Amino acid sequence: MKKLDLKNIVRRNIQQLKAYSSARDEFKGVAEVYLDANENPFGTLNRYPDPQQITIKKRLSEIKDANENQIFIGNGSDEVIDLAFRIFCNPGKDKALTFTPSYGMYNVSAAINDIELIELALNKDFQINTDVLERYLEDENLKLIFICSPNNPTGNCFEDETIQYILKEFKGIVIIDEAYIDFSTKESYITQLSYYPNLIISQTFSKAWGLAGVRVGVAYANSDIIDLYNKVKPPYNISALNQEAVLNKLDNLAQFEIEKNIIINQKEKLEKQLQEIELVKKVYPSEANFLLIEVSNANEVYNQLVNQKIITRNRSNLVNNCLRITVGNEIENKRLLRAMQFIDVASSNVESSFKN
Ligand SMILES: *Cc1c(COP(=O)(O)O)cnc(C)c1O
Repeated sequence: MKKLDLKNIVRRNIQQLKAYSSARDEFKGVAEVYLDANENPFGTLNRYPDPQQITIKKRLSEIKDANENQIFIGNGSDEVIDLAFRIFCNPGKDKALTFTPSYGMYNVSAAINDIELIELALNKDFQINTDVLERYLEDENLKLIFICSPNNPTGNCFEDETIQYILKEFKGIVIIDEAYIDFSTKESYITQLSYYPNLIISQTFSKAWGLAGVRVGVAYANSDIIDLYNKVKPPYNISALNQEAVLNKLDNLAQFEIEKNIIINQKEKLEKQLQEIELVKKVYPSEANFLLIEVSNANEVYNQLVNQKIITRNRSNLVNNCLRITVGNEIENKRLLRAMQFIDVASSNVESSFKN
């Protein structure tokens, strides 16, 4: 197993930080009278929630290859990403690295934390170019590498050989964003946690679990990294309502599997049907619940779909003339296909004056 030199990677102020100790941290047993947290005695949501989300972690440890002390629950993946910057990167000095095109939050979170984000272009197959990456890995100020696999918006997974190479060669923290892993044929990198102490895996309840409205993300990492996350997070970062919603989902794994498989089947169908539409030049293979399609004029197609009250994601500024289409239910997908068939190919070939 690789050694992790956390002293050299974690910000000094975070190493020295003493975490806030809440009333619920200091007394963990069961009592009859709670007069310790200045709560209101009336109501049903009057009590602070469990700050460590123990019940969720217990359930997750039963279905994932991780112990409870290797799990952090965040207010969406957004919190998992933001805390990584705050734990490991000194503002105005350190750097992070990712690949482009990819998920926009790495960029926003880096900017908020005043961290330079190096964005390396993926090759024409949307894979990582290791020759270009190599020279960045030795940079002392490079603390984080974000790998989004399956990647948003391209839909593909990165080669295992490349991911292993980065995990082995890079001395900083590698965050693999697996927001779409449940839709993929690939196995999660959670199984690799015991080999790579510098690995953080980010997953979410927002996609395959159908709880985007609830805002719960999960990080899996070695317990030293999870301790740092717990130290830096706001004490009650997951509300009682949100914890309950997640636990209800986790109580019905059969339903989760059913819905996930419907989405995967719908994707395969939609992929074939989109390929038959004249307007569509290319449908990229996808290991996620969306399809990236190339058309001759994405801005025009996007606008014509909006006119038909169908919203897709125009990704033209990231991948030329491409739209990212989420796989909906059967009715929604049929409606999209019908709408696409009615788009006038001739007019969509005309250079649009719309710029998004
Ligand atoms: C949708 C998505 C997420 C989910 O973010 P949440 O804050 O958990 O809703 C994370 N990463 C990627 C790449 C995504 O596309």
